[in-house]
Amino acid sequence: MIWYPYAQMKTLDAPIKVSHAHGVHIYTEDGHDLIDSVSSWWSVIHGYDHPEMNAAIKDQLDKFAHIMLGGLTHEPVQKLSDKLASWLPGDLDYCFFSDSGSVAVEVALKMALQFNTNRGSDRNTILALEHAYHGDTFKAMEVGDDEDYHFAFGAKGEKKRGVIHIPTKIADLERTFTEHGNHLTCFIVEPLLQGAGGMRMYDISFIKRARQLCDQYDVLLIFDEVATGFGRTGNRFVADLVQPDILVLGKALTGGYIGHAVTVANRKVWEGFLSDDPTHALMHGPTFMGNALACCAALKSIELFDREDYISRIHHIEEVTRREMSGFSDPRVKEVRIMGGCVCIEVYDSKVLEGFRRFAYEHGVFSRTFLKYMYAMVPYVINDSELITILDTMKAWFSF
Ligand SMILES: *Cc1c(COP(=O)(O)O)cnc(C)c1O
Repeated sequence: MIWYPYAQMKTLDAPIKVSHAHGVHIYTEDGHDLIDSVSSWWSVIHGYDHPEMNAAIKDQLDKFAHIMLGGLTHEPVQKLSDKLASWLPGDLDYCFFSDSGSVAVEVALKMALQFNTNRGSDRNTILALEHAYHGDTFKAMEVGDDEDYHFAFGAKGEKKRGVIHIPTKIADLERTFTEHGNHLTCFIVEPLLQGAGGMRMYDISFIKRARQLCDQYDVLLIFDEVATGFGRTGNRFVADLVQPDILVLGKALTGGYIGHAVTVANRKVWEGFLSDDPTHALMHGPTFMGNALACCAALKSIELFDREDYISRIHHIEEVTRREMSGFSDPRVKEVRIMGGCVCIEVYDSKVLEGFRRFAYEHGVFSRTFLKYMYAMVPYVINDSELITILDTMKAWFSF
């Protein structure tokens, strides 16, 4: 029996069975051809069955699939860390690989906490955002702010110890630093676009002010770009605009081919662990960190991202989306939000979206709404008519 994600197994609608997939198309066993509006949880940026991605993995497979990084190393992982060091902004050069975004967030938080213990500081509070989502492991849930997870920390409404959540408003940010700045270890954010918390978009001025305050109060700034990285916001990384001390990447890192993630530290954080004292070392080591197939997929994915000028494609996707959504309104719709390769229709009442998944399926689109949010995060290789089919299907749901 398969236990499916985020699902009440007693009432689960049978998932759609896929036979194969190519480009932005998912082909089902019952003969449907669905345009994918979700990119397999926002990761499959090159589409499915990409010939160059396939070849990169097959070539490595003939050498070896996986070798542990404990005491051993290999060319794909060395090449990928070199590539990331030169490709990412500033001195974000020190790459710790892991197998999923949640684990990479755990590593980032562990780095920030231990960075402080290593220097003898007793700072003990983490700052995070309201509506934050950072993954499903325990520390990630703790810095997250999702009603669905409050079971893990006791009664609803009970404050999580050691974590402060603030809205994305500069006044709240400034007040929190004035009150708590000297006790903060780090500030973790999904910059510009909060994904699973409801596709919430906010302004870069908040992030810029956060950087200033983190510098002023000596607090590490962590960007969780697991969702926003690799172009989703229309920027290659938000880290290109404002540089964090620790950057977390996942999802699209491997073009959605193999689960892998990386926590990238800057020089200051790295140096906080260099010591003659063995207890100052970072004690972490996921079994599959630096998996060779994943590294080869990531290297090819980055090559395609640059070579095919994905940033221009994403700007084009945003342009078409804005054009197609302009003038759309409905009394049931609270807001339409668009940023880069993300569009979200927020409704007042989640009941309004019940049945949309089936409706989309019958219109040749795969969609997965959640709570009050109907959204699309398309693969960047999508063409205009495919994109318009998705947007028309979203709008059509409100026209009957
Ligand atoms: C998806 C996501 C994660 C968790 O990544 P997994 O690979 O699912 O563990 C963490 N942070 C953000 C912002 C995400 O969108």
